[in-house]
Amino acid sequence: MTTIDAPARTVGGPDIVQERRLVTSIPGPLSRALMTRKTDAVAAGVGATLPVFAAAAGGGVVVDVDGNSLIDLGSGIAVTGVGNSHPRVVEAVKAQLDAFTHTCFTITPYESYVAVAEALNRLTPGDHLKRSALFNSGAEAVENAVKIARHHTGRQAVVAFDHAYHGRTNLTMGLTAKNQPYKNGFGPFAPEIYRAPLSYPFRDGGIDGVTAARTAILQIEKQIGAENLAALIIEPIQGEGGFIVPAAGFLPTLLEWSRANGVVFIADEVQSGFGRTGAWFASEHEGIVPDLVVTAKGIAGGLPLSAVTGRADIMDAAQVGGLGGTYGGNPLACVAALAAIESYASEGLIERAGDIGRLLIDRLTALQASDPRIGDVRGRGAMIAIELVDPETDAPDAALTARVASAAHAQGVIVLTCGTYGNVIRFLPPLTIGDDLLTEGLDVIAEALATA
Ligand SMILES: *Cc1c(COP(=O)(O)O)cnc(C)c1O
Repeated sequence: MTTIDAPARTVGGPDIVQERRLVTSIPGPLSRALMTRKTDAVAAGVGATLPVFAAAAGGGVVVDVDGNSLIDLGSGIAVTGVGNSHPRVVEAVKAQLDAFTHTCFTITPYESYVAVAEALNRLTPGDHLKRSALFNSGAEAVENAVKIARHHTGRQAVVAFDHAYHGRTNLTMGLTAKNQPYKNGFGPFAPEIYRAPLSYPFRDGGIDGVTAARTAILQIEKQIGAENLAALIIEPIQGEGGFIVPAAGFLPTLLEWSRANGVVFIADEVQSGFGRTGAWFASEHEGIVPDLVVTAKGIAGGLPLSAVTGRADIMDAAQVGGLGGTYGGNPLACVAALAAIESYASEGLIERAGDIGRLLIDRLTALQASDPRIGDVRGRGAMIAIELVDPETDAPDAALTARVASAAHAQGVIVLTCGTYGNVIRFLPPLTIGDDLLTEGLDVIAEALATA
């Protein structure tokens, strides 16, 4: 078909000027026209946070089809940690395109897949013998982690936690906590999934982590029985659930109990991994060494790739042919991952995430001091959030949150919300973003809060 209203095209990557610049109102006329086509052509269930269409992106800036430059504080949900269209990633993918696009690793394997597995085995917590398997999406990797844990243990039950988000496929919808919009009307869900209470310091009265874990463990023992439990899956810092950082001691106590009971401990680091929190993996902040680690999002600089990495005896349990898929560990995604991993390591991006975190926390706690609607400022590294509440009661204020986010969007700042109660604004900038751009983005948020 012909393209009407041909959008402006710009070359992305390092040539994109790192600035916020609005040349039309948001959305501009070309984005509005494309949104009409989207409504007519794309299923309504596939939403869009912003009403603008992207034409190009580089580093921490997205340029829309009308020529507006937006500050990216979302990284496409923690994906472009190395910055959008990072030159190293672009170069690697271009070279791979010239070599071959696909063979299927389970037909004729290729080196880049093995090299990604080696890197994951080296970088994930613990120096034990490990293996990895690659997939396409976070949800697919979570599904495979559960498959592997069930095969290894010969048990069926799986525990996930309150506020958890693990994806939108059938099994992962079951693991995900929040009904709207993720589960409503999509049942029945897979059996043998159970939910346990989480440590949520802002809303549980500040119960210490060990006590909160003991409460969860007691519930698991009484309602399921450890002998039936294949795996416990948890995000070390929750993503969609609201950037909830459990109290110190919560994760180690759960891990210790899992070990003692032959339960596979799965850390879902899909959002928190790859330098995001100021360490390669968020598990490191609590000193835990999970049995299996699930990764995706930040792994490959924007290409679709995910992985399960873990103890060799668990990972090797499944029979040949039991794991895999047509595209899992696609060669373009694998070379992109190797390039991204090289960038995280050689460009000091893990340390940079810590600096970004300090800047965010300083600014947001200063805002909080004069604005009691900011109930909580939390997170680690470049994974920071504010929870907006009614100052009198601490009741979640989702309406205020939506107003602040859309005011920021209208001013050219891409910012995302999250949380079970829809009242959390989360900051996930690319780790390559400059202080100037980040500060300008926060100025816009502050202004949006002041006027909302
Ligand atoms: C995004 C996410 C997933 C699902 O990943 P997809 O690639 O969207 O399937 C799973 N777990 C966590 C913690 C996530 O943030």
